[in-house]
Amino acid sequence: METSKVKFLERTLMGPGPSNIDPRVNAAMTRPIMGHLDPEFLKLMDENMILLRKVFKTENPLTFPISATGSGGMEAALANIIEPGDRVVILVNGVFGERMADIAKRYGAEVKVLEIEWGKVFSPDEVKNFISKHAPIKMVGIVHAETSTGALQPLEEISYIVHNYNSLFLVDTVTSLGGTEVNLDQWGIDITYSGTQKCLSCPPGLAPVSFNEKAVEAVNNRKNPIISWYFDVSMLRKYWETGERFYHHTAPITMNYALWEALKIVEEEGLEARFERHSKLSNLLQNALEALGLKLLVEKNYRAPMLTSVLIPEDISDLDIRGKLLTQYSIEIGGGLRNLKGKIWRIGLMGYTCQKKNIALLISALGQCLNDSGFKADINAALSVLNGE
Ligand SMILES: *Cc1c(COP(=O)(O)O)cnc(C)c1O
Repeated sequence: METSKVKFLERTLMGPGPSNIDPRVNAAMTRPIMGHLDPEFLKLMDENMILLRKVFKTENPLTFPISATGSGGMEAALANIIEPGDRVVILVNGVFGERMADIAKRYGAEVKVLEIEWGKVFSPDEVKNFISKHAPIKMVGIVHAETSTGALQPLEEISYIVHNYNSLFLVDTVTSLGGTEVNLDQWGIDITYSGTQKCLSCPPGLAPVSFNEKAVEAVNNRKNPIISWYFDVSMLRKYWETGERFYHHTAPITMNYALWEALKIVEEEGLEARFERHSKLSNLLQNALEALGLKLLVEKNYRAPMLTSVLIPEDISDLDIRGKLLTQYSIEIGGGLRNLKGKIWRIGLMGYTCQKKNIALLISALGQCLNDSGFKADINAALSVLNGE
């Protein structure tokens, strides 16, 4: 069989991740490989931890990238906290909440799921009622930015409730980190995991995590060893956090270079400026989509700035339009998952991809594809929204 058929194409990545990466991050991955115990590489690891604490807004010593994708971060967080028989609550309003519940069950937890309509966010009251019905609970898990719907969940009040019931608060910040405010210490988030390929604009492959003192205590007080060897933070911290530099597994050197460069870029831009860019440009995208004549899934106040879900108009083929965007314009957008399959498109504006020129490109291309399919998209109105800005 022939094996030279692959084409490596330059795509505009406007789906739910991965996002495009800054050329500097690309260049960082061509740097020479050092050993994972080389004193120079150890310096880079230390700096990655310092830079990650800044984006997470935390003082947690145990903040480092797990060698895995975001789902690996999810599994690591749950594996370390959950012991067989522990009762946990998982709040589900999309695919990633579902995945959290699935993993928690596999690690032996008694999982209580509160599920609401996808695209909506949880109110503090409904969370409080649910927790009070099932207390005592070891941990409550929730997704900050649900990438399957584009809903952004407010966290502070829920965190307060969770702590009133003496539970640990676990938050998925895979899509939100680096694109909108995430404040671990101020919001009382005990455990979080993220990913590199969304708003940090680094390739997929690492999962930054952070455990606060209470979470570390929960790990230390376990009656049973952690079922997963690879994700056991009590061993991983001896390589990352302590001076021991105890060999656990070979850190993916190149990925750590990429993360270091990506985090330097975030630091140079400044977190607040970065959030402002995502917020301003996502508003612009949303206004332009509405001007085209399209409707959005999530209510205005709860839209995640890095991911917008658009309802697919009646009689328009999901696959046909996404296929044309990819082959004719080299733009990738995402489709809906599970019960939203065929019903929405998911348009990402994450990190390096979040630029006005990409919005203009997408709006013209999408408008053209829709018109070719018989939907009357008002491209002029949408472009004047972009120009008027
Ligand atoms: C992408 C994503 C994940 C999973 O990350 P992978 O890198 O695909 O394993 C988990 N949670 C959320 C909210 C995500 O957007």
